Amino acid sequence: MSLTRRPRALTLDLDDTLWPVWPAIERAEAVLHAWLRDHAPATAAAFDTPALRAVREQVGREHPERAHDLSWLRQTSIARALAQCGDDPVLAEPAFALFMDHRQRVELYPDVPAALARLSAAFPVLALTNGNADVARIGLGAHFVGTLGARTFGLGKPHPAFFQAACAQLGCAPHEVLHIGDDWALDIEGAHAAGLPSVWVRRRPELTVPAPTAAQPWRIVADLQALADALDALPD
Ligand SMILES: [Mg+2]
Repeated sequence: MSLTRRPRALTLDLDDTLWPVWPAIERAEAVLHAWLRDHAPATAAAFDTPALRAVREQVGREHPERAHDLSWLRQTSIARALAQCGDDPVLAEPAFALFMDHRQRVELYPDVPAALARLSAAFPVLALTNGNADVARIGLGAHFVGTLGARTFGLGKPHPAFFQAACAQLGCAPHEVLHIGDDWALDIEGAHAAGLPSVWVRRRPELTVPAPTAAQPWRIVADLQALADALDALPD
C-alpha cells in the first residue's frame, strides 16, 4: 500500500523490531532454571530448559484459546512441571515474575534510541505486540502513547480486529496509521488485511518477500533510521 502523505500515527512492533528477542528469552530461561535449582530442585532436575519449553508447547496445544497469552502459557507450564515433580505449584508465580523481570532486559538494536526519539517526536506511537515485553520496564515508555497487547486484547496479529482496535485507540482510520514490524506474516500481511500501510523492518538482509503475497509494504528498510528518513521526505 502506498503512502503519499505523512501518516497521522504509527503502530510499532516490539520484539525483533526494536531488539532481538531470543537472547533475552534465553537469558531469562537460564535465570529461571537456576532459581528452580534453589527452590524446587526436583523440578529443576527433571526439566531442563528444552524440557520446560516442551511443556509450554504442550500446554499451548491443549489451550489454543490462550495462544495469544504467552504469559499465561509460561506460568501454567511452570506450575505443571512443579506439580509433576511433587514441588509446590504456587512457586510458579515467583518463578514467572523472575522470568518476566529478566525477559525485559533487552539490548536495543543500535539504531533504535535515536530513531525512536525522532519518530516519537513527530508522531503518536502505539506499541502493538503479541509478546509480553513492557516498554515502561524497558525504559522506553516515554516514546509511546500506549501499548496494545494480544494478551489484554484477547487475540493478536495478524488478526485484522487487533489492528483496527489499535487504530481506534489512536483515533485514526486504518489508512492514516502506518504499521512497522519485522514479521512478514504477522506485521505486513496483518496490516494489509486491516487496511493499514506498512513498513517491513528487515533486520536480516537475506530475508526475501515471500511469493505469492497480496501485501505490499510502503517501504522495506534495514533499520529505523532509514524509516525516519523516509517519513521525513513525505509531504504533510
Ligand atoms: Mg516482531
